[in-house]
Amino acid sequence: MTTHDLAATRDKGRNADKERWTEWQPDSFLSWPPKLWPISPVGIAKWLYFYLVPWALVYVAISVPVLVYLTPSMETMKTLNWDWIAFIFARNSALLIFFVSCLHVPLYVKKSQGFDRKYNGRWLGRNNPNFLFKNQLLDNLFWTFASAVPIWTAYEVLTWWMFANGYIPYVSFHQHPVYCLAILFAIPLFRNIHFYLIHRPIHWPFLYRRVHSVHHANVNVGPWSGLSMHPVEHIIYYSGVLIHWIIPSHPIHAMYHMIHTSLAPSQTHTGFEKFIIKDGIEIRMEDYYHYLHHRYFECNYGGGGILNVDAWFGTFNDGSPEAMEKMNQRIMSRQQRAQSKDQSS
Ligand SMILES: [Zn+2]
Ligand SMILES: [Zn+2]
Repeated sequence: MTTHDLAATRDKGRNADKERWTEWQPDSFLSWPPKLWPISPVGIAKWLYFYLVPWALVYVAISVPVLVYLTPSMETMKTLNWDWIAFIFARNSALLIFFVSCLHVPLYVKKSQGFDRKYNGRWLGRNNPNFLFKNQLLDNLFWTFASAVPIWTAYEVLTWWMFANGYIPYVSFHQHPVYCLAILFAIPLFRNIHFYLIHRPIHWPFLYRRVHSVHHANVNVGPWSGLSMHPVEHIIYYSGVLIHWIIPSHPIHAMYHMIHTSLAPSQTHTGFEKFIIKDGIEIRMEDYYHYLHHRYFECNYGGGGILNVDAWFGTFNDGSPEAMEKMNQRIMSRQQRAQSKDQSS
């Protein structure tokens, strides 16, 4: 493992608290994510591969059968009725349990790869008063099933009811295949920007203390931490799907958007850079940059990733000593501004 000495030599004690010495850092953090600028065919191909393989394709592959086989007919969904709403709630719960368990059980229960590629050198918190029931896993399960799944289901039910009654614009894949594929392709990009834009305001002190601190109790994240949020944050977080109430969409667009919003957080909060299936077969989990957000709060609001929206706004931190220094300077100058404002008032 290249990990810990790498962190140590890079830090030279500047930001080195005890925990940081045991962190895994990706070897290639300076060249990631693939750069789109200057535009070149190789750069575009690398970016497309990074964008689609495997996760965007995995979520499409889940969304299609869920829409076709596990969603009531539009005829049924014309009228709001507890039978089909309860079915969608149960289906969403089952889907989430299955998907998240595929990550949580091998990595955190069986500990199949130990700490190899794990960003944080500890397991999930127990006997920790920062969590409900003093247990990180139970806390995460509580927020996920008491809040995330009901709110996800509510957005989904309303969206289907609107589609079924023709209240929102529908577009056919057969008549407009290029438009439909373009929208499908753009959904994770849209999510990246939407996430950044809703994430910045919930870091304002008023909302952070009351709302976002629930999610940030997870400094050392695990797959169930992804959707562990306050209900107000869930309402804001899932609001991206409302785009399909405005722009002409097919139900698969809304389904993909909701599946992506619901399943991707467990993948991006696994806490591991890679999931080693067996020797030579590894899956890229991401998301080092969102992990740094959980560690340091003041950076990577967009979670790094495909568009790297943080780079546009000067909040990107790639984990290098230079980026840490830049982040610290930003925090210090903000504190100085706040102090001088206090003194002058
Ligand atoms: Zn997070
Ligand atoms: Zn945050």
